[in-house]
Amino acid sequence: MKPTILLCRCGFWAVAFALLFAGCSPPGDAPGVGGARPLVVTTTTMVTDLVRGIAGDTVTVKPLMGPGVDPHQFRPGQPEIQALQKADAVFCNGLHLEGKLSEVLKLMEKQARKVYAVAAGLPPDLILKSDNEPDPHVWGDAALWAEGAKYIGEMLAAAFPEKAGEFRGRAAAIEKELRETHQRLKTAAESIPAERRVLITSHDAFRYFGRAYGFEVVGVQGITTVSEASLAEMARIAGIIRDRGVKAIFVESSVPRATIERLSKDTGVKIGGELFSDALSAPGTPAGTVSGMLEANMKMITEALK
Ligand SMILES: [Zn+2]
Repeated sequence: MKPTILLCRCGFWAVAFALLFAGCSPPGDAPGVGGARPLVVTTTTMVTDLVRGIAGDTVTVKPLMGPGVDPHQFRPGQPEIQALQKADAVFCNGLHLEGKLSEVLKLMEKQARKVYAVAAGLPPDLILKSDNEPDPHVWGDAALWAEGAKYIGEMLAAAFPEKAGEFRGRAAAIEKELRETHQRLKTAAESIPAERRVLITSHDAFRYFGRAYGFEVVGVQGITTVSEASLAEMARIAGIIRDRGVKAIFVESSVPRATIERLSKDTGVKIGGELFSDALSAPGTPAGTVSGMLEANMKMITEALK
């Protein structure tokens, strides 16, 4: 490890990480440093849901982000850096969803640590782009996320081959469940007329959802929550609400409500509720899994836009 080289190439968090790592030997040399079971670190709540479901109790899963946490804005603190130091494998979403953390994960990959992005296992031609940047919100399409489940099963099998059969078995069950969810979501979407399927939310997190279930999607902020909406953009969206007779717009659980509340006030359109976009609800609650989250969102959307 040579932190001086990294100083030139990476941002503050990667540098902090590199310095913390100086002199440490990678845990790949000593599997299972998390205790008797290997330690697997996960980033977003959606990735955690998949990894927990597929890994079962054969590994210790340590999530970095909890319910309500915006992955675009997430910055690793010392406890998260320490978890990454100790990890036997790391699972993330990829496609730059994990904002500041992406730099740290890239650095770990360069050190030949086991870092797996769900997005790497998805068919490249199904990845949406916005201003030439890949759109990271892939879990919005349950059938696409099912491909991610299959990939995570394979990567867990590669990382911990002694349990490969178990991982593949559970991954196949989750894949099947997600494909069934996909069919239910399609049926639910068809319960409202196509012309009313206009989904206006805080940021562009629903383009995969829109493509899969036939909604025209408008995000007030772009595909990240880092930039704010311009006045011109707010006026354009207010125009869509009036011209299309949109019955409701939606706030998101991991994004501040201000822009949507402003649009609601300016146009008189009601707020249809709070959607889960970039984070699940707490584990054990109905929207605590990706399937549950998508079904809860669809229920709220179809009821408000009917
Ligand atoms: Zn997002």
